[in-house]
Amino acid sequence: MVKKELKEELSEEQIAQLKRFAELPPDKKLELIEKQCIFCQISKGSIETIKVFEDSEIIVALDINPAVPGHTLIFPKKHFQFLFQISPETREKIFSTASSLSIYLVNVLKAGGFNLYVANGATAGQKMPHFVLHLIPRFDKDGLSFDWDAKKANQEELKKIAAMLKTSLEKEMGEKKKSYKEEAQAQSDSSREIERALKFRRRA
Ligand SMILES: [Zn+2]
Repeated sequence: MVKKELKEELSEEQIAQLKRFAELPPDKKLELIEKQCIFCQISKGSIETIKVFEDSEIIVALDINPAVPGHTLIFPKKHFQFLFQISPETREKIFSTASSLSIYLVNVLKAGGFNLYVANGATAGQKMPHFVLHLIPRFDKDGLSFDWDAKKANQEELKKIAAMLKTSLEKEMGEKKKSYKEEAQAQSDSSREIERALKFRRRA
């Protein structure tokens, strides 16, 4: 399906809403986004879910529409859309929890293996603008598929991409990183974020 331009999809009232939203101060924007976000509502206790673990930073809960039995979600309590916006401490906790939980999925649920899945950005299939790590236990003939068509690569193209990533990553790793708060702020201020937030709100 061809993706329509945002303008074509919105009514006059929705465009007016978008403008009002864009003019709000950052804390009010975040407040509005959180009100529409299922994961923020779960974090605040406004929506019930079946939790496996909770502390001050993260929640581990069963997906209410699981791909397979045992499909588990791990997410930060604070509203962040992207992996890079989450504080290093919380990020570390999310992935180390996934590591521990994967052992239990295999041992307790007798899974044959597991997949970790993250959809970041609407283009990648993210349905809610709140970061979620899916931990999906796998069973023989469970019918799930994460396959894609492998394509023959051009060696020069591969080398070019690797060189670009290497330069950026080495620079990033060598520099003192911007605080995650600054990055989150910059993100919430960008017009793309506003468009995305409204798109998600319309779907909700
Ligand atoms: Zn949220």
